[in-house]
Amino acid sequence: MRVAVFSTKPYDREFLASANEIAGHDLTFYEPRLTVQTSALAAGFPAVCAFVNDQLDAQVLLSLARQGVRLIAMRCAGFNNVDLRSAGQLNLTVARVPAYSPHAVAEHTVALILALNRKVHKAYNRVREGNFALDGLMGFDLLGRTAGIIGTGKIGAVVARILHGFGCKLLAHDVVENPEIKALGAEYVPANDLFAAADVITLHCPLVPSTYHLIDEEALVRMKRGAMLINTSRGALIDTKAVIRALKSGRLGSLGLDVYEEEGDLFYQDLSNHVIQDDVFSRILTFPNVIVTGHQAFFTHEAMQAIARQTLQNITAFERGERPPGLVTVEKVVAC
Ligand code: NAD
Repeated sequence: MRVAVFSTKPYDREFLASANEIAGHDLTFYEPRLTVQTSALAAGFPAVCAFVNDQLDAQVLLSLARQGVRLIAMRCAGFNNVDLRSAGQLNLTVARVPAYSPHAVAEHTVALILALNRKVHKAYNRVREGNFALDGLMGFDLLGRTAGIIGTGKIGAVVARILHGFGCKLLAHDVVENPEIKALGAEYVPANDLFAAADVITLHCPLVPSTYHLIDEEALVRMKRGAMLINTSRGALIDTKAVIRALKSGRLGSLGLDVYEEEGDLFYQDLSNHVIQDDVFSRILTFPNVIVTGHQAFFTHEAMQAIARQTLQNITAFERGERPPGLVTVEKVVAC
């Protein structure tokens, strides 16, 4: 099947081309993000392959459908950037990769927790400058601390297992309870109770209308003074401006982000010679107790292989008139 692949970097091309040796599709790689302006590049392609920051709103989907696109194959787990209702109305099939390596994201989450706690980002710079002083580098033992996990699906469950290994007490919050988490001794509690009791709060639920700005002023006020907040899920789970206020006042002790609500204009590009225009993001970067990575939690060899393979499997199934294994339906969004 002819596929227009948007937002591609050399590593995307490498993994997709390698998996395609078996799948045998006709892939055309485009570097630009999919937007209204670039949607014309999909003319003549029955399938489009897109990523986390591609724009798949009603306007873009209409443009794609008018050009003959019938399949949107997301090469990621999240699909919050796809207007599923419009896709349904336009008879566009949407597929994603629901599970590739929950370990990749979970391990990155724990990397952020450990680095923030033990101030690895500061220690790294200090030692390189010959400064071996320890002032300001003190952390805490994770043993016995309370970790609050919001969203205990595939990734949240792996995070729970790792933190259980550190000897953390686990609190969980989800709309569905996961028996695997309960077997670890985790207690499911309402979100407000989790906010009040957790030393480390980590977000692993999808971005849907009910989770938009889940971490807002009110949630932050309920948190323990000095709590650590980690978000490797989707940026808009957090009200960034409220988080900045909480960091300024010291109410929030530290913040680890792999995602940011306005990341689309920033991430996956080298902007080191540009002046960043996003003042909220720039402010976030000024805090010593904040670590930001650029949506890289998924980025392991194993995950990239699995993403490429499963994306192409979705395309193959669609081409054969079968149900793609990663089919996304409107009901899926409503259910969340
Ligand atoms: P999953 O579907 O297995 O788990 C999500 C969990 O969130 C489910 O248990 C679901 O019941 C729960 N949930 C839904 N609505 C909720 C709500 N209102 N409150 C609390 N919990 C709720 O998904 P997953 O594979 O674990 O992925 C989780 C998220 O991680 C994805 O939605 C995606 O946005 C993000 N992600 C990020 C990266 C990255 O590179 N940073 C990579 C993959 C996935």
